[in-house]
Amino acid sequence: MTGADADVVVAGAGPNGLMLACELALAGCRPVVLDRAPGPDPEPKANGLVGQVVTVLERRGLVARLTGDDRPVPPVPGYTFAGMPLELVRLADNPLRVVPVGQPRIAAVLADRAAELGAEIRWGHELVDVRHGADGVAVEVDGPDGRYRIDAGYLVGADGGRSTVRRICGIAFPGVSQDRSTTRIGAVRVRPEQLEPASGGLVVPGFGTLAPFAGVRTDRGGVTWAPLPGRDPLLTAVEWDRPPSATTMSLDELRASVARVLGADVAFEAPDGAGPHALRRIEGGNNRHAERFRDGRVLLLGDAAHVDTAGGQGLNLGMQDAVNLGWKLARSCAATPAAISWTATTPNAGPPPAGCCCTRAR
Ligand SMILES: Cc1cc2nc3c(=O)[nH]c(=O)nc-3n(C[C@H](O)[C@H](O)[C@H](O)COP(=O)(O)OP(=O)(O)OC[C@H]3O[C@@H](n4cnc5c(N)ncnc54)[C@H](O)[C@@H]3O)c2cc1C
Repeated sequence: MTGADADVVVAGAGPNGLMLACELALAGCRPVVLDRAPGPDPEPKANGLVGQVVTVLERRGLVARLTGDDRPVPPVPGYTFAGMPLELVRLADNPLRVVPVGQPRIAAVLADRAAELGAEIRWGHELVDVRHGADGVAVEVDGPDGRYRIDAGYLVGADGGRSTVRRICGIAFPGVSQDRSTTRIGAVRVRPEQLEPASGGLVVPGFGTLAPFAGVRTDRGGVTWAPLPGRDPLLTAVEWDRPPSATTMSLDELRASVARVLGADVAFEAPDGAGPHALRRIEGGNNRHAERFRDGRVLLLGDAAHVDTAGGQGLNLGMQDAVNLGWKLARSCAATPAAISWTATTPNAGPPPAGCCCTRAR
């Protein structure tokens, strides 16, 4: 490519932006990844990879990097879908495989791989504006040393559910938001005698056993017990029709929520160590979908394109989208090298090029 600073600018170094950067760099593109955060997000969010994305990452040698084991991942005997346990072991050709690795580790492995392949990742650099025309995009960035500009062939907004790129380009995000449910999550420590030896289920006196990962529903909500391998188990309680809370989330709040849903007390303590212990309260939820994933040379990826609070799928779906987009964008970059028609790398330089269809109103 000539006349541009990068083939593709990726706004957002979350798992989906990083996966795209790996794919682009693997295909010979020069991506620059911007993230306004000072470094990788340590928050435990997604708990692993499920389904087709496992096969996709195996092909790239990334599952072995995540697990330290290069043997094929075996299928799981069962899984829970929409609160219903599925006995997959009955299928002759069970396709479902799971890699239970937390999101911070997934993002760290992808960041290492992207850098190894030649992608440039700039932490502490925030995209603040975009102008794009027929030939390329001009991205304005606030970095540690002030504002500057990158000219590139394409911009991908992988900047999360509140995407700045989506907003600047005026792409609507229709769907449903609800503020009635409250979800509380925490990593916990229980005594070995509270566990059913064969299944690892959590025995709750006065209620029964919470089978691993299966989730139970009552009239008041749902509770899930997730004994993740090599990590502290997660306990999650969802309550319907709960008013928002103004206090800081605590283990006592989780304990009270679980008791309200199950009608029985569960004894647990905080895990050992400094954390983070995944303690989190999520009020309400969103199911939204960008009205279009593309505006000229700007594309949306991951949570910027779709959010689904109930599904817990954002990382898994987004990473497959990233792989799907990666080779196509790489082919487009190779086929139509951007000839940027306005001065490159000049901070705040010049008017938008003719045909420009997107600029920030701020
Ligand atoms: C508690 C919890 C549990 C979850 N569990 C699951 C699960 O089990 N399975 C699953 O698949 N998903 C799960 N998810 C969803 C998953 O975490 C998200 O779908 C995923 O993080 C989306 O990745 P992303 O790369 O699209 O966006 P993000 O991870 O949101 O990353 C966006 C990045 O963009 C950066 N950014 C934002 N604005 C700018 C800007 N203007 N300039 C530069 N950088 C910017 C941000 O700093 C951030 O690093 C869970 C989420 C939560 C909160």
